[in-house]
Amino acid sequence: MANDAKYVYFFGDGQADGATDMKNLLGGKGANLAEMTNIGLPVPAGCTLTTEVCTYYYANDRQYPPELKSQVNEAIGKIEKVMGAEFGSKTNPLLVSCRSGARESMPGMMDTVLNIGLNDETVLALAKQTNNEAFAWDSYRRFIQMYGGVVLDMKPKSKNDEDFFEGILHKTKEKSGVKFDSDLTAEQLQGLVADFKAVIKQQTGVEFPSDPYDQVWGAIGAVFGSWMNDRAMVYRRQYGIPHEWGTATNVQAMVYGNLGDDCATGVGLTRDCALGVPGFNGDYLINAQGEDVVAGIRTPKRIEKTLVEEMPDAFEQLQNIGKTLEQHYKEVQDIEFTVQRGNVWMLQTRNAKRTGFAAVRIAVDLVNEGLITPEEALQKRRIPADDLNQLLQPVFDVAEKSRAESGGKLLATGINAGPGAATGQICFHASDAEAVIEEDPDAQLILVRRETSPEDLRGMRIAKGILTAFGGASSHAALVSRQMGKVCVVGCSSLEIDYHEATVRVGDKVLKAGDWISVDGFTGEVFEGKVVTSPSEVIEVLVHETKKPEESETYQRYEQLMTWVDEHRKLRVRTNSDQPDQAIEAVAFGAEGIGLCRTEHMFFEHLDEIREMILAETQESRKLALDKLLPFQREDFAGLFRAMNGRPVTIRLLDPPLHEFLSHRHLEEQPELGHKLSDMLDVSLDVIHRRLDELHEENPMLGHRGCRLGVVYPEITAMQARAIFEAACLVNKEGIEVHPEVMIPLAGFLTEFKHQEEVVREQAKAVFAETGAEVEFLVGTMIEVPRAALTADQIATGAEFFSFGTNDLTQTALGMSRDDYGGFIGDYQENDIIPADPFQTIDQDGVGRLMKLGVDGGRSTRSDLKIGICGEHGGDPASVMFCDGIGLDYVSCSPRRVPVARLAAAQAALERE
Ligand code: PEP
Ligand code: MG
Repeated sequence: MANDAKYVYFFGDGQADGATDMKNLLGGKGANLAEMTNIGLPVPAGCTLTTEVCTYYYANDRQYPPELKSQVNEAIGKIEKVMGAEFGSKTNPLLVSCRSGARESMPGMMDTVLNIGLNDETVLALAKQTNNEAFAWDSYRRFIQMYGGVVLDMKPKSKNDEDFFEGILHKTKEKSGVKFDSDLTAEQLQGLVADFKAVIKQQTGVEFPSDPYDQVWGAIGAVFGSWMNDRAMVYRRQYGIPHEWGTATNVQAMVYGNLGDDCATGVGLTRDCALGVPGFNGDYLINAQGEDVVAGIRTPKRIEKTLVEEMPDAFEQLQNIGKTLEQHYKEVQDIEFTVQRGNVWMLQTRNAKRTGFAAVRIAVDLVNEGLITPEEALQKRRIPADDLNQLLQPVFDVAEKSRAESGGKLLATGINAGPGAATGQICFHASDAEAVIEEDPDAQLILVRRETSPEDLRGMRIAKGILTAFGGASSHAALVSRQMGKVCVVGCSSLEIDYHEATVRVGDKVLKAGDWISVDGFTGEVFEGKVVTSPSEVIEVLVHETKKPEESETYQRYEQLMTWVDEHRKLRVRTNSDQPDQAIEAVAFGAEGIGLCRTEHMFFEHLDEIREMILAETQESRKLALDKLLPFQREDFAGLFRAMNGRPVTIRLLDPPLHEFLSHRHLEEQPELGHKLSDMLDVSLDVIHRRLDELHEENPMLGHRGCRLGVVYPEITAMQARAIFEAACLVNKEGIEVHPEVMIPLAGFLTEFKHQEEVVREQAKAVFAETGAEVEFLVGTMIEVPRAALTADQIATGAEFFSFGTNDLTQTALGMSRDDYGGFIGDYQENDIIPADPFQTIDQDGVGRLMKLGVDGGRSTRSDLKIGICGEHGGDPASVMFCDGIGLDYVSCSPRRVPVARLAAAQAALERE
């Protein structure tokens, strides 16, 4: 069998052994060189040594399979024939390159050797043939330099090591008084060749090999060897590329972009990948070799601007090649080419990387051009669902951001909790923010906090962005920001915030209130100073209504894409909203209901009343305080029912521990508050402090909260339920359909659920009797502790729907506080302990398993049980796909993630088909 193994695949003269679907064997570059040859594009002949050679090489003590040599020799024979030249010929020499090419591109990580085949004799032939002595000697000296560095290991390893070749080159240029390599004469280049060879002998003890076959085997060994070099291994670890894959090696006839002014070399895109604008574009250099374009020694020119005048023929060839490639691959291509004496040669093609913005435009355009189907446009590899965010939020101007990066303005990186880009002046307190905005309504502010609490809501609402030092992806700051559609970075642990001094320190930099910073909620990066942003046209049309649909092509493409999305998805998408304005925005983004209204957020507008309720010592006085809250709650719920106009609205009863509304911290931060409360309630300060001691919890997230509050204080549940039903009847009378769904938080026992359900139903009955109206409603529960998932069959005997609260389910299943994990999660990811932040993407093996148990258990009792998810994972594409897989009915997420969830749901459905 081993004797039959094919290790070398030839391509040339319109025919190739390989094809594009053989990437695993031939690597990306090899497979596409073969494919381009097969479809008739001009590709210099060559051959690919497969990835199996690489795996064999490492499994066999760096030996090659025995049949490799004859297969390579045979392929070189074919290359000679196609190119009409001979390897080592003293009159008509063939020169080849040797390049790596793995399955996934690993840009610049492995080695390349060019101009193989040159020696003291062939160089003369090349000079004669090209009638260009300087070119021939320059090629020779480049070859020796590359070979010495790559094959003979003479490249400097650290910044203190000497670069022998560059040193000699530099001296020669200095001596000759020239600035550029290209200004050296043939004689000077010849001198360099001799000097390079001498330094090789001196440093390695061996002569530079003059036999072309020795040269090519040296280069092949170096390329396979570079698969295991340090930087390639680091790169693979970072991008999850298995070491076992190995690289292929391509040996290919050389073509020259540096023979004179009718030659060029370049890299291009078949359409622009920043914004997606159609048309060939890219960089090129006249009279240069490939590496010169990327090396940055000479500034390349733009293909779309000047090539059409400088080389009209080549420009036209490239345009046609671009069209052929797009027709064939049905994707935008990123190519490398060389123009030799007016003829274009293709050296590489691959699917181009693009921004999210371009991804949408390209996918929609390709459908409209008839190249792909709408189903193909929706593929995850074409538009990763999260990329839609780039259309829905302001983004940093690309050039401005890279200027900030290269200018050393990056201050810190935290957890990317709310997408978008924001720039503004630092502000540490909500009250300061309000004062600034009152003076100047157009002021741009970034609220910078250690963490946020209910008090900060007013500040968050008017700030452009929110930045916190602590907390994770489901912390208060993160979920409130997302709900408000604000840019947010949390858990930025290198920030040292001093509220008293009004400063934030990062390392040795100190910024003050009023200083400008910029935060990137896509990446978690925080920059010092202003970085210019541009607004989202989709938001201008859908939310602000400052643009009409017909004025924005971006919006029109978004709309077209979302129509296809809705034709394919099975999962419904709801939103987490507590306010009518958020709900209206979510509906504009396509939300089909409210999956979670966190009622506590409404209380933050009425802190006096809730604090009175908290400080009440008896049930009577608590009821009196609750009576004051009732009308506010009723109005809030009525507003939501109206905004949702007949769509279902899930309202969760009070959840957070009461100390979130009143604690010693509040009294410390606002000294006047204690006196105000003591006057208002006519109790002493001591009484207030005693009550706060009772409320204090070390771990704020797993104590007296959720339905446990309602069990101890059923009057709170009763007030909320009454408000819900009064509002429902009121709005219903206005002629608007209502579908309230009352949701009990944090239940783990059927009995907890039943206790609360009874209070809710009693109120419904009472309100219906009082108003003479009646509305249909459901009572269901959140599944957010493991016990609820494990006993879902029991809980479903009472609950009419489930909604997975995966924020709490993650923290309780993992035993990892959602507020405190920011300090170590980065290290966990870097050390491959966990693949992703479990508060952003569902931990499928653990939390996901509990969810599956919950679904199966619940539906074993009630086969048509409606099940959704309202944790922050409901807007995360990978989690949405998982939810589709386990049969949920809907996901619920913050308003601006609704389109992302819709797209992810369509992708899940299409992948399942
Ligand atoms: C949850 O726990 O997932 C949830 C939605 O509730 P909250 O984030 O309000 O605790
Ligand atoms: Mg919860």
